[in-house]
Amino acid sequence: MNRIKADIAIIGGGAAGMMAAAALSYELFAKNGQNNVHIVIIEKEARVGRKLLKTGNGRCNLTNSGATAADYSGSFDIADFLDVNTPTELIAYFAKLGLICKSDAENRVYPISNSANSVLDVLRNNYLSYGVAEYCNNVVSSIDYQKQSYIIKTDSNIFEAATVILATGSCASVNFSKENIYSLPKALGHNISKINPGLSPIQANSKILSGLKGIRCNCKVQLKEQNNVLATEYGELQFAENGLSGICIFNLSNRIHNAENPKVEIDFLPNTTAQDFAKILCNRAAKFAALTIDELFFGILNKRIGMAILKTCKIGDFSRKLGALTKKETEKIANCTKAFSVDVSRPQSFAKAQIAIGGVIGSEISSKTMQSTLHGNLYVLGELIDCNGQCGGFNLNFAFSSAVVAAKSIAEKYN
Ligand SMILES: Cc1cc2nc3c(=O)[nH]c(=O)nc-3n(C[C@H](O)[C@H](O)[C@H](O)COP(=O)(O)OP(=O)(O)OC[C@H]3O[C@@H](n4cnc5c(N)ncnc54)[C@H](O)[C@@H]3O)c2cc1C
Repeated sequence: MNRIKADIAIIGGGAAGMMAAAALSYELFAKNGQNNVHIVIIEKEARVGRKLLKTGNGRCNLTNSGATAADYSGSFDIADFLDVNTPTELIAYFAKLGLICKSDAENRVYPISNSANSVLDVLRNNYLSYGVAEYCNNVVSSIDYQKQSYIIKTDSNIFEAATVILATGSCASVNFSKENIYSLPKALGHNISKINPGLSPIQANSKILSGLKGIRCNCKVQLKEQNNVLATEYGELQFAENGLSGICIFNLSNRIHNAENPKVEIDFLPNTTAQDFAKILCNRAAKFAALTIDELFFGILNKRIGMAILKTCKIGDFSRKLGALTKKETEKIANCTKAFSVDVSRPQSFAKAQIAIGGVIGSEISSKTMQSTLHGNLYVLGELIDCNGQCGGFNLNFAFSSAVVAAKSIAEKYN
């Protein structure tokens, strides 16, 4: 067992941990020309930044220039945080480190190279050139505060550091249990809120949906508990093996965990009213009276979606002629097209989730410095905190920005 002394130990070499190292390098060394603070990154995987490389389908949607507090949920004071730490500031900070970004029509910001590797390279090149040491293949199994120092144990090393940055992320999409992730802040006295999978597909228990697998369509989706609307999203819905997927569904999944008997209601034609659509159906039933009912949706919706709507409406024999459709039936079909209701269950698995909802209770972390309210020399960053963003760059925005804030606060202690 090696004993390694450091001034600052960063636990977790993911988005937040790597940005903390790069920003500390910038604030302490590049800016002042000093290089006398020993910083280590301790990472359980063989390489840092594995999850980062998967983000944005390998393109890394690193922030969203339109981010507001409404894009987040959880107990952390994100409104106060975003007041000072805007996405524009983060993009400018990345530029100082050498990363050039571009934005799309929905305010999603990516590296101009369109590659997550560029983000990883920029962060690593910055901190490695200023002497930050990486310790990979080191799973932190315990942390303890003794005599003004943190003692951090892994299989092969014992680290001792005056300041610790906890940036271990979450149990979403990794082979690491909830207990492993949250035992470290717990050991230092922090409380953890309930942890659930977020930004995840939603399972639906419907035979009718099984015929729709692989179809994508643009629509409006609402998460409902009885008649209450819990969340509304617009975008591309994807019918998957056992349920619903796509960014709009991922966003609904963040709000599902407290819902009793949740339902997702799909509006396949969000730009038309049910009344207008009933009239359209009536007209085409008259005009194409000789066609069979299963042709009703031609030119409007995917045929399989049309069949699912007709089955749900219990229209009966599909070989009937369109001319035989009654006004009542067209109204029923129009209403079902506008409010196609699917019984869904709460996501349980973290494997397909992009984030975990919940984490270190937000009131225990300062939104001004990311300092723990329990320990003066402990900083907690990123997804480990109960601060959950929607899809679109909001989670990386928080991981990166929280790291910059902590680095600036720590650097002040050394200046
Ligand atoms: C497929 C996918 C795509 C995504 N795409 C986007 C996107 O485009 N935009 C966006 O904003 N968000 C995206 N996210 C979410 C985003 O990746 C996370 O919110 C973000 O990475 C959180 O950063 P973090 O540094 O807090 O945690 P992480 O990036 O998860 O880093 C934590 C690090 O700590 C290490 N670690 C954990 N426990 C220990 C331990 N005990 N000892 C040592 N090391 C430990 C982990 O191995 C990991 O390297 C995506 C997530 C997934 C899964």
